[in-house]
Amino acid sequence: MNNQSPVITPTQTSSAPTASVLVHPEELSHVWIDRCAAYGIPTIGLHPVGGQAAADTMASLLCMMEDDTFCALLSYAEERGIAIEYEMHAMRYFLPSSEFSRHPEWFRENEAGERVPDLNCCVSSTEALDYIAVRAADAARRLAKPLSHPTHRYFFWMDDARGGFCHCEKCRRLSPSDQQLLVMNRILKEIRRDDKNAALAYLAYCECTEPPKTVKPDDGIFLEFAPFDRDFHTPLTAADCEKNSASTAPLSALLSLFGTDDAKVLEYWLDNSLYSGWKKPPKAFCEDKAVVHADFAYYKALGFTDISTFACYLGADYEALYGDADIRAFAEEVNALLLMPQHTSAVN
Ligand SMILES: [Zn+2]
Repeated sequence: MNNQSPVITPTQTSSAPTASVLVHPEELSHVWIDRCAAYGIPTIGLHPVGGQAAADTMASLLCMMEDDTFCALLSYAEERGIAIEYEMHAMRYFLPSSEFSRHPEWFRENEAGERVPDLNCCVSSTEALDYIAVRAADAARRLAKPLSHPTHRYFFWMDDARGGFCHCEKCRRLSPSDQQLLVMNRILKEIRRDDKNAALAYLAYCECTEPPKTVKPDDGIFLEFAPFDRDFHTPLTAADCEKNSASTAPLSALLSLFGTDDAKVLEYWLDNSLYSGWKKPPKAFCEDKAVVHADFAYYKALGFTDISTFACYLGADYEALYGDADIRAFAEEVNALLLMPQHTSAVN
């Protein structure tokens, strides 16, 4: 979408406005569900911890799908009108290092030219992609199973370690963004065998913030923009903030490639895990209201109608230490966003 010279196409409508908070699965509680219901936040995204533990935390989440107590919580959320989604760094789970001895060629080559059983896959290995896609489709089924009203949106991110993509002779011609999109296109194709309405996120984040150049998104791939390298306490539009200028620079090209209709923002406004240095106990959290308000205005002007934020480390242990978390600025903006009329889409 080109915001400078939009041409209205009346037949194409944008997705209904929506928003979510991402919390760790173990933080999901009646408190969080009631909080979202009270504040009018329509979706909770469950986000297993990433990094070194990503394969284990994702496996744990899948096990929780079989746990009656946890499934009852999911049902309670749905009864209160809150949708549940799952967002995670999934590659280490989809391609476990235990496969390395049998299939080293499935794994990435590092910059030293060695195949290594870590981080991401070799995207030039069709066999690896097939294996990953089957594991992804299985995970998609298991995650949707306890839900009465699944959104059909999936978020199976690549590993986010910098330098973690494949550097083999074939793959090195593809940017990290192209490598990610190649994998996501393949995964979505597999998920759609079961769930024909499935959509899958391309995560514009860290090394994948520049738009893919050689791979095109298949139908059903949508943009998720997560500006992790931004300054969290300066509005994105601040003229004198190099970090934020650099973070937002690729946005126009990203929206142009992926489309604005179903594009989603994933922000850090309420990410108390980040502000606590990813170490429990959580620190006291103070919402940066000015940044939240300014950033919402910016994203809405670009045409985003789906705006979410990490909100980890604000669960029961936070409440026991500090009382109820104040997330009113985010909630106010979400409520205003949800009241926006569905408008016709501007496309160039
Ligand atoms: Zn490769």
